[in-house]
Amino acid sequence: MIEMQDVWKSYANGVMAVNGITVKIEKGEFVYVVGQSGSGKSTFIKLMYREEVPNRGKIIIDGTDITTMKNKDVPFLRRKLGVVFQDFKLLPKLTVYENIAFALEVIEETPRQIRKKVMEVLDLVKLKHKARFLPSELSGGEQQRVSIARSIVNNPSVVVADEPTGNLDPENAWGIMEVFERINDNGTTVVMATHNKDIVDRMKKRVIAIESGMIARDDKRGDFGYEG
Ligand code: ADP
Ligand code: ADP
Repeated sequence: MIEMQDVWKSYANGVMAVNGITVKIEKGEFVYVVGQSGSGKSTFIKLMYREEVPNRGKIIIDGTDITTMKNKDVPFLRRKLGVVFQDFKLLPKLTVYENIAFALEVIEETPRQIRKKVMEVLDLVKLKHKARFLPSELSGGEQQRVSIARSIVNNPSVVVADEPTGNLDPENAWGIMEVFERINDNGTTVVMATHNKDIVDRMKKRVIAIESGMIARDDKRGDFGYEG
């Protein structure tokens, strides 16, 4: 499903962010990525959605090597893999409905099919009643639910998230985690970088710990392992 083979990434300033990572994530897994600030979690996640390209190594998503993928084929990756960010990245002038419809890769779909898909994902995140609202009219937790709905509207097999609860209070953070659980229960692979010790320790899922751009731990029912 997701496979990295001896992946290295350094930035233009010489910082070595990822140093020889080899890892395999199977279809349907739920994986937390933890580590101190600056350890390389974000770079690890960015490599998966091709925001960054490695200096060396292979990254295979759902059978496609994305390291040799042409730029014109990147939109194709968006149908396999959705992304959720810490700061939501919603378009402020579009309604909730429009933000999601805008992300939909429309391939010969009728307006009715588009509406059906958007309303389905809004139902999953329990925000159908706010379809006509603007992002600024929603709480942080609700905005993040819209951004999750947007990430899954193309029915991707993987969702990657970088600190999705980083801007939220504990109650909203748990609400967001429930949404990811539901998405994972439907068979979607979830990979999430997080600093949220409480959540990681209670969920008992696979935990990959990154230190100095390398995998320091990889446990099936792991815990956070650092002081919060
Ligand atoms: P984390 O997500 O664990 O905080 P990052 O992947 O963001 O770690 O960063 C890993 C290292 O790479 C850090 O030393 C950071 O300063 C550096 N880094 C991250 N992004 C860039 C960039 N665009 N240019 C240069 N250095 C970067
Ligand atoms: P760019 O050409 O700078 O990548 P795009 O319009 O293609 O700009 O992407 C807009 C934003 O979506 C970027 O910030 C990018 O990081 C993010 N992004 C990249 N890959 C994906 C993906 N698979 N799904 C959703 N968003 C993505």
